[in-house]
Amino acid sequence: MSAEPLLEERLMKRSQQKKRMSPLNYKERLFVLTKSRLTYYDGRAEKKFQRGWVELSSIRCVEVVKNGGGVIPCAYKYPFQVVYDTNTLYVFAPSNESRSVWVQRLKERIQDNPVVLVKFHPQFFKDGSWLCCRQTGKQAPGCDQYNLCADVSRKPLPPIPEDKRGDEPPPAPPAPPAPPAPPAPPIPRSAGDDAAGGGGGLETVVVALYDFPGAEPHDLRLVKGGEYVMVEKCDVNWYKARNQYGEEGYIPSNYVTEKTSGNLAQFVWYSKQVNRNKAEELLKKEDKEGTFMVRESSTPGVYTVSLFTKSAPGDGASAIKHYRIKETSGSPKQFYLSEKHVFSSIPDLVQYHKHNAAGLVTRLRYPVGQEDESAPSTAGFSYEKWEIDPGELTFTRELGGGQFGLVRLGKWRARHNVAIKTIREGAMLEEDFIEEARVMMRLSHPKLVQLYGVCSQQRPIFIVTEFLERGSLLSFLWQRRGAMCLDVLLAMCLDVCEGMEHLEDNNFIHRDLAARNCLVSAALVVKVSDFGMARYVLDDQYASSSGARFPVRWSPPEVLQFAKYSSKSDVWSYGVLMWEVFTEGRVPFDKKKNPEVVAMVTQGHRLYRPKLATPTVYDIMQLCWQERPKKRPPFSLLCRMICSALEGDAPPSN
Ligand code: ADP
Ligand code: MG
Repeated sequence: MSAEPLLEERLMKRSQQKKRMSPLNYKERLFVLTKSRLTYYDGRAEKKFQRGWVELSSIRCVEVVKNGGGVIPCAYKYPFQVVYDTNTLYVFAPSNESRSVWVQRLKERIQDNPVVLVKFHPQFFKDGSWLCCRQTGKQAPGCDQYNLCADVSRKPLPPIPEDKRGDEPPPAPPAPPAPPAPPAPPIPRSAGDDAAGGGGGLETVVVALYDFPGAEPHDLRLVKGGEYVMVEKCDVNWYKARNQYGEEGYIPSNYVTEKTSGNLAQFVWYSKQVNRNKAEELLKKEDKEGTFMVRESSTPGVYTVSLFTKSAPGDGASAIKHYRIKETSGSPKQFYLSEKHVFSSIPDLVQYHKHNAAGLVTRLRYPVGQEDESAPSTAGFSYEKWEIDPGELTFTRELGGGQFGLVRLGKWRARHNVAIKTIREGAMLEEDFIEEARVMMRLSHPKLVQLYGVCSQQRPIFIVTEFLERGSLLSFLWQRRGAMCLDVLLAMCLDVCEGMEHLEDNNFIHRDLAARNCLVSAALVVKVSDFGMARYVLDDQYASSSGARFPVRWSPPEVLQFAKYSSKSDVWSYGVLMWEVFTEGRVPFDKKKNPEVVAMVTQGHRLYRPKLATPTVYDIMQLCWQERPKKRPPFSLLCRMICSALEGDAPPSN
């Protein structure tokens, strides 16, 4: 190859054909990076020694491979991955520095590639599955956000940007740049492994967002606000972490947030999902001069400071001001409320305005967070725990009856509320379900009803799930008839859409999405339930499209005609669910019999516009009911459309 080499080094390469990680599958190769290719040679960089190459334009991801404590059976211990087309090349560098250089240089070269991954696998594919998320199959979708711009040569941890509990720190100087924050307290470090950090040996620190008592002896207890060192990302839902006393154990990944300078979630004053009205309610409740919060506006990536004052200029009464945080156009971005005071980060900006009103109606004195929301569900009660001991369940009352049998409210270990489904014998393909339950437990999202586990060693078997206080969405709609405004209805649709987006991202098809299969929490969050369960129903009247219990009214033509299920058939059902929401729980095509519905839908007939649905909302439903599945939008796009249909924040008041 005539092109000028940008980088050249002897590295080890793992054979792409072999499944097992035996030492024989690792070969030393001379790797040469040029403007257009990554080529490897057996010996010298000459054509005749060339063993293979990857076109840079086909590369979708270059990243360090996190080795969760596993043994690397070759001399070079610093792995990185090059994902191209549908393949992954694993390369092993002799040192962390060498690896950083390769990863960084390759990342620079693929910046403009159109095929770059959104999500990737941070760990190896080994013995038929991904170590990071346990998904099987090489093509399983990535489980972690891929950041092409992240610098792999990890810098030391930034100083802790200021106290998080609202005590007054020492006064700040009057002008930017923002004052230096006190240095971080020492964090225990383990001797030179790179198991967790992924990069240069410095450890990742996480902050607990909630208390976690720990269910099993191998779990680590979390205290809200406490800091922990990441030891290993076992899968997407469970991490291994270490506390300040050196104790290690499993923690739920959704209970912590990474402590990095750009991560706002670690601050009590930051609330992600709080709209203008909710913010005003929270601030008024405090009723203290200078109470404030920073929240994400309806437009993602746009932040607003909401601030309470008792002495609003002019009227002398209490008032709440909303200031949009503006950004400079240059790179790197800078943030400001008033043009005279510009900061490199939002925490710096907050820190400054805690001591200087500088144009604001008052200083930012007392941070408030979102109301103490109850901790989210964990994906199972502990890492790799799906079998639940029925002796640890107690039953409280009946919740309802379903396809599979009775559903009861109960407690697990006398403290966790759970819903327990008793599976009537002969109602379910039990073996198949139990097999799939492990996969379903890993589907963990705030808008999905969490599966906690099963009692499969007895008959009847139990399915144990998250309990939602207000029962099914359908009955909720009936109860609240006439009492819900457009925004409330849309917000419910958005919840469902977000849950479905997560299923779609994981290539998981619901097959029976409808208002009766969604549940409502005490805080009025709607969550999707019963996903994938249709496959295990033993009931001809339900399983066959001509059966009386088949969800004909929620099914698209390709399901009615060819039983062709996909995320796009879920999108169709989602449109019908929106229709149920906007009719406050009416039966779709209520005067028609099932065969008539089939005939109408296949001939192109669609549900009418509900009175409560605006033309924009009805447009969204109709997109879901496109004849051709491909023309129906993905859930990610539907979420965006519903967000913009929802009333945004009013313009800022400064
Ligand atoms: P199936 O899907 O087996 O037909 P469902 O899941 O619809 O059964 O359960 C029947 C009823 O039980 C629901 O309509 C709801 O009222 C109640 N229910 C089921 N699961 C829960 C839960 N996790 N939390 C609260 N109520 C539930
Ligand atoms: Mg159901």
